[in-house]
Amino acid sequence: MIAELISVGTELLLGNIVNTNARYLSEQCAGLGIHVYYEVTVGDNEERLTQVIRTALERSRLVILTGGLGPTEDDLTREAAAGALGLRLVEDPHTKERIEAYFRNSIHKTISPNNWRQAQIIEGAEVLDNENGTAPGLFVHTRDGKHMVLLPGPPNELIPMFETKVLPILSRLRDGMGTLYSCMAKICGIGESMAETMLKDLIDSQTNPTIATYAKAGEVDIRITAFAENEEEGIRLTAPVVNELKKRFGDHIYTFKEKETLEAHVVGLLKELGFTVTAAESCTGGLLCGRLVNVPGASAVLKSGFVTYADEAKEALLGVRHETLAKYGAVSRQTAEEMAAGAAAATGADAAVSVTGIAGPDGGTKEKPVGTVYIACRVKETVRTERFLFKGNREKIRELSVQNALNLLRLCLSERKKAPQGGISE
Ligand code: ATP
Ligand code: MG
Repeated sequence: MIAELISVGTELLLGNIVNTNARYLSEQCAGLGIHVYYEVTVGDNEERLTQVIRTALERSRLVILTGGLGPTEDDLTREAAAGALGLRLVEDPHTKERIEAYFRNSIHKTISPNNWRQAQIIEGAEVLDNENGTAPGLFVHTRDGKHMVLLPGPPNELIPMFETKVLPILSRLRDGMGTLYSCMAKICGIGESMAETMLKDLIDSQTNPTIATYAKAGEVDIRITAFAENEEEGIRLTAPVVNELKKRFGDHIYTFKEKETLEAHVVGLLKELGFTVTAAESCTGGLLCGRLVNVPGASAVLKSGFVTYADEAKEALLGVRHETLAKYGAVSRQTAEEMAAGAAAATGADAAVSVTGIAGPDGGTKEKPVGTVYIACRVKETVRTERFLFKGNREKIRELSVQNALNLLRLCLSERKKAPQGGISE
């Protein structure tokens, strides 16, 4: 089934808000095996909106509209949709009652006349009650076999409505059409162009499933998508590709779980090992701890961390030796290792990661250009230290530092898990 999304709102065109509804709906449709061929954004203008809906009805079987269902003058989606379909708007007593009840129970006791506009529905439409607001959604099945869904703009109204009311209807409509099954491998420590080179033959030869890569800072996500009768067949079709990726990327793959972030994976490893962690950060200024704290339940493994930007702080808080700083510099393997050792000693944490580098734009030298970063990871008595040379601006270098620090920690913890007594060589 070919679908089209229409996002309504001048603020979307002005760039005032990000169109997260379109992203959400596209993803949901893909999961249902519904092909979104077109995605249109249009302002709060009745004439243009009507035109866009007419075009959509000509080329798509399912048209999903979001936004413009509210009570104000610029909320015109109902009127435009009725106009494009050649249908009337009629008052829906059930919705009228719900609006009255909503105001009775809310702090805003007075209903403005505008609110009654929301009780106007397209004749013959299925009403989708709004549990988080007043504007109901509408589902219209046209005489020529097309389907149109009107959904409220605010995501906290749209998402629950989609999940509880729209999904069951769409699942019914798409029965027997198959589904898109997809899974994801997340990779660290290999750049996007390298990953693509390693995948080129697979990408070129595969039609079902298909393979696509998405790059983020310090991470490449590989999505494997199969068009299948059902989920079981999807798993069967993607399994050989998943195995091939394991062979090619080995330890670089940190997860196959789409929703698992690198920091969540690391926190999970620490929990499995029963380890605590600390961080000693220079150029990342707390970003590393911030990433760990992103994970709910991180308090079980992270008790404290250090932001030691100045040399004096590295000495005072982490016990980095003055001679080390004088001889090798703050950005050096030796300083990184002493930072990690100091943080572990001060907190008693089982694992300690340190980051020291030159984020720029100033401060680079011939030997240590901007982007030079040392990361040391100490797990119990075993230390692994790496030197990186990152490209990019200050923000990028700091982001890449954090990502690679998390990845080094992950690798050290995985090693530890495999051989609890064994050491990790530098
Ligand atoms: P309301 O009853 O709140 O007026 P509505 O259905 O009329 O809802 P809009 O007026 O178009 O929707 O948008 C209301 C708010 O919903 C916007 O200010 C914005 O915060 C959010 N919103 C609308 N469309 C989108 C979108 N495509 N993606 C993300 N947020 C959106
Ligand atoms: Mg509105």
